[in-house]
Amino acid sequence: MERVLISGAAGFLGSNLCNKFLKEGFEVIGMDNFITGSPKNLSSFIAHPNFSFINQDVSEYISIKGSLDYILHFASPASPIDYLRIPIQTLKVGSLGTHNILGLAKAKQARVLIASTSEVYGDPLVHPQTEEYYGNVNPIGPRGVYDEAKRFQEALTMAYHNFHGLETRIVRIFNTYGPRMRLNDGRVIPAFMGQILRGEDLTVFGDGSQTRSFCYVDDQVEGIFKLLFSDYHLPVNIGNPVEISILDFAHEIIKLTQGQSKIVFKDLPVNDPLQRCPDITKAQKILNWNPKTDRKTGMKKTFEYFKSLSRDELYETTYKNFDKYIKK
Ligand code: NAD
Ligand code: UDP
Repeated sequence: MERVLISGAAGFLGSNLCNKFLKEGFEVIGMDNFITGSPKNLSSFIAHPNFSFINQDVSEYISIKGSLDYILHFASPASPIDYLRIPIQTLKVGSLGTHNILGLAKAKQARVLIASTSEVYGDPLVHPQTEEYYGNVNPIGPRGVYDEAKRFQEALTMAYHNFHGLETRIVRIFNTYGPRMRLNDGRVIPAFMGQILRGEDLTVFGDGSQTRSFCYVDDQVEGIFKLLFSDYHLPVNIGNPVEISILDFAHEIIKLTQGQSKIVFKDLPVNDPLQRCPDITKAQKILNWNPKTDRKTGMKKTFEYFKSLSRDELYETTYKNFDKYIKK
């Protein structure tokens, strides 16, 4: 049985990847320090005979007994308010954490897949974003801690590939959503759905004309799985290219959930990308991958998940001082 290490296993994507690899017959070792993840995300497979868990910060030296065939590095805060709250940890996990993961992969002769992001394109001047675009990132802006950590992560990964001959894969993930997202992580889908469930107004930042393109988690996981087993080592965008403005999206969510909420406008966060949409030609050609879940279907499944949460979870607000993060 092949062994795979998944960092960030208690997070949204990491836990969904654990499910996938267990289902495909791998032995899975999950690693996480729960800084933004939750033990609850592990609950459906923690007792699986082929799953084991290590509670560890990947920015510290990692030691694993036995062989490893694959490593998926998904540990990192991923939501803007998370990486604004814990900027140093974000920089460390993208740099030192990635260095540890690559060193481990080299020692074990494992193939490694690194979770990068559409944020490497910053506030893009090329639209839709192809992998060839170098990006437009403000290194010292509030999002710089995440964007630059991820850009460094890609550079380090390519250096291990070119210098050490390590087998590497880089996925540039575009906004992905679905069950196991944290309701209070501040990302737009949990934010809007939480507001609807609490009977609050939906907070649209800026005038809502900024765009995003939302990919359902099952499609994302399938794309990542295919990329790992491809022979392509350069970055590949995985996301859903159906683009929508945040204001239209707010109206769509209210309609879809039959919510009674109104829309209120708040300041646009600093350096919030004005448009984002993946060019997925590469994933289509190289991986024969296409997203299959339309937004309506994915959003319904996600809303069902959020509806199933307890009242405590619905009203839990980790970020009471959120406003200070978004004021210009
Ligand atoms: P998440 O916050 O749900 O999961 C991240 C997990 O990593 C959490 O469980 C957290 O506790 C863990 N973690 C963070 N720092 C760690 C450390 N130093 N040591 C050990 N564990 C640590 O976020 P997510 O949405 O699942 O994102 C997972 C990965 O995918 C991240 O690398 C993120 O940058 C990338 N990504 C996600 C999206 C998206 O739309 N979800 C988009 C682009 C990139
Ligand atoms: N957004 C919003 N209201 C919210 C949360 C987010 O209007 O309550 C906007 C945010 O400004 C951004 C978009 O929704 O333009 C997506 O934000 P998210 O935090 O989900 O991810 P990003 O793509 O910015 O990393």
